[in-house]
Amino acid sequence: MATGEAETKKGPVRTCVGCRRKALAAELFRVVLEPGGVVVGGNRRPGRGAWLCAAEGGPSEDCLTRAIRTGALARALRADRKELRWQAAED
Ligand SMILES: [Zn+2]
Repeated sequence: MATGEAETKKGPVRTCVGCRRKALAAELFRVVLEPGGVVVGGNRRPGRGAWLCAAEGGPSEDCLTRAIRTGALARALRADRKELRWQAAED
């Protein structure tokens, strides 16, 4: 079995914006920037997204905190980090 870094048979590989770990998109947690703010849990939502390691019930707090602190999240979402607001996904 090859363990390449790009596309695999299991699906696309994405990089966590917190710790830069590469993993299958299915194993990561996506956040999406929408007009009302950043939606957590938007794996199936359209729009500009960023990927974070998954923890139980949501994105890894370590990775999320790091991504916010370093500005990597804002950069990935092409947003001003001061203007990043959070809203819960309805689905
Ligand atoms: Zn991570």
